Amino acid sequence: MVNRVDPLTYLGEQVADWKAAGTYNRLRILEGPCASESRFDGHEVINLASNNYLGLTTHPKLIEAAIEATRKYGAGSGAVRTISGTMDLHMELERRIAQFKNVEACVVFQSGFAANAGTVAAVLTPDDYIISDELNHASIIDGCRLSKAKIRVFGHKDHNAAGRILAELDGVSGRKILITDGVFSMDGDIAPLPELAALAERHGAIMMVDDAHSSGVLGRNGRGTIDHFGLHGRVDIQVGTLSKAIGVLGGYVCGTKNLIEFLYQRARPFLFSTSHPPAVTAACLAAFDILENEPERIERLWENTRYFKAGLTDAGFDTGASETPITPVMVGEASQAHQFSRELFDNGLLATGIAFPTVAKDKARVRTIVSAAHTTSQLDRALDVFKRVGARMEIIRT
Ligand code: PMP
Repeated sequence: MVNRVDPLTYLGEQVADWKAAGTYNRLRILEGPCASESRFDGHEVINLASNNYLGLTTHPKLIEAAIEATRKYGAGSGAVRTISGTMDLHMELERRIAQFKNVEACVVFQSGFAANAGTVAAVLTPDDYIISDELNHASIIDGCRLSKAKIRVFGHKDHNAAGRILAELDGVSGRKILITDGVFSMDGDIAPLPELAALAERHGAIMMVDDAHSSGVLGRNGRGTIDHFGLHGRVDIQVGTLSKAIGVLGGYVCGTKNLIEFLYQRARPFLFSTSHPPAVTAACLAAFDILENEPERIERLWENTRYFKAGLTDAGFDTGASETPITPVMVGEASQAHQFSRELFDNGLLATGIAFPTVAKDKARVRTIVSAAHTTSQLDRALDVFKRVGARMEIIRT
């Protein structure tokens, strides 16, 4: 064998630096289903770290649908959508989502990430302008970069700043697209959609919303922020995910028939990456039945959200700007946030430490997400652990 120096040694050095700084993100291993209390790394812990908002990952109807579809259609789809990998099930799910979201058409992607990145990159050219909230999800940012359009970032939720950028671009050639997350994934706050939609209309811009964290959470039966604010017909591109409240995997784009037909022809993840296994699609279809027939799950999610958030703020924690089940507990320093998360885990609670580059350098936090499946007793135990560890680490003063 040739005695060769590993050209990737520099990566190992970088990882060692992160470990030394206490900012290395070690993977927690889940040894069973994702539930409100789960086994990670050999320990039973209360799970406040998943996006399984409605507890659907383990819903018997989703599991049955997945098994039945696997028996009928097999384990995989065998090809990308545009070659031979479009099954009748895939089309049924797209029709179902379009109907649910009250739009003309829908296309399902392999993930929410693929939906955002694939769509933004496909609909724009280097001559166009993107006006984007500074806290938009990484998949939007990557889509923006791939599109090669000119990117103008506005301060978080600052619709006046977005308006100023759009006004500057009035009369400038090229299309404009105004993009925001509906609910922001690290802060749990809601975008000022009515103001942004009005701006897009005033300046002739395309309006795009990523509703990953609002689908199944906000609006009637979980129809998302557009429904929550009564903005039907005023948002041109609505993205959602099937990986969070829906409990399975995937992403989708809703809009006009024109938009969806265009994406069928040009969105690169649709053209170049294999479609979902039948089990995934069938389980997603079952989840939409549940959204329509078991609205009490969403009510329970919000009861738990209010209860847990109040418990944290009453204890003296800073929960930032959260308005949804995503509740950050602000810490500040990256290494302290990771240490807080580790100590919570040692005391029976999984809540992830999140730091730079996911959030700004001085805004490290532990992020919590409650679900409809958490019991009051689990939430009480979680609050108790937060208070004990938070006081010991002087994140709150008692
Ligand atoms: N958008 C937002 C706002 C998200 O938080 C996420 C998931 N982290 C995604 C898109 C990507 O969704 P998925 O996990 O389905 O790829």
